[in-house]
Amino acid sequence: MNERVEELRARLEKVQDAIAEASTDYSAVRNETSRDVELMVVTKFFPASDVKKLYSIGVRHVGENRDQEASVKARDLDSLTLNNESPLRWSFIGQLQTNKAKSVVRYATDVHSVDRPSLAKALAKAYTNQLNRYEAEEDSAPLAHSLGGLKCFVQVSLDEDAAATAGQAAEGKRGGSDADAALEIAQLLEELPGLSCAGVMGVPPLGGDPDQAFERLYGISSRLREQFPHADQISAGMSGDMESAIRWGSTIVRVGSQIMGPRPLVQ
Ligand SMILES: *Cc1c(COP(=O)(O)O)cnc(C)c1O
Repeated sequence: MNERVEELRARLEKVQDAIAEASTDYSAVRNETSRDVELMVVTKFFPASDVKKLYSIGVRHVGENRDQEASVKARDLDSLTLNNESPLRWSFIGQLQTNKAKSVVRYATDVHSVDRPSLAKALAKAYTNQLNRYEAEEDSAPLAHSLGGLKCFVQVSLDEDAAATAGQAAEGKRGGSDADAALEIAQLLEELPGLSCAGVMGVPPLGGDPDQAFERLYGISSRLREQFPHADQISAGMSGDMESAIRWGSTIVRVGSQIMGPRPLVQ
């Protein structure tokens, strides 16, 4: 039990040190005035008891990529979020089916993986429905309600030759560039009730050069910020590439295995 806490603490400190060090690397787009980089600990495949241990050593922001798993953990640990003076936040970071939106808005403060208009609409609908039930005193509020709404990140593909997104390719369309699609989704997030656009999120292609991918993401973020100045967050960087992501302006890194240890092979 305690051994696990100490292990988590040591790994967490190492990652925090690495983030602090990367934050002073001004070789790409950061400078002295750049904001601090936030750390989200990705707890997928690890039990709620580990999340509790993380909380006990100061972690207040965790990320999950499957609703089935996340919703159970969040429910088990609701004393850490509801009416807690120093609440834990759950971010949803994985592929999301529209029919899971209803569940996700119950516990998530933000969704990092909005990659299509239909998902934005489903989240807005689920959020509004839950808010209506809350106001009719039939249910609890969506968790993000007390924070002013559900913050959404537009997930963009960072494949070099992905001129068309997967969905558009399937429809036989060439599609706009990723940046154009991202701007359209951002616009929608700004218009829909209960939601707002926080910025962009990206995962570099497997085997690709992370610097190139994160530079691309920074470019898309810059275009987004011209239109929506407050949508200035960049969710980028995982255990293997967080230094590169931070050099290229990441404002929030999503780190799993470097803190939690290796995940079980079966995913
Ligand atoms: C699993 C996951 C992470 C964390 O990955 P690690 O390599 O374990 O740090 C980050 N982002 C997303 C979207 C993930 O699914």
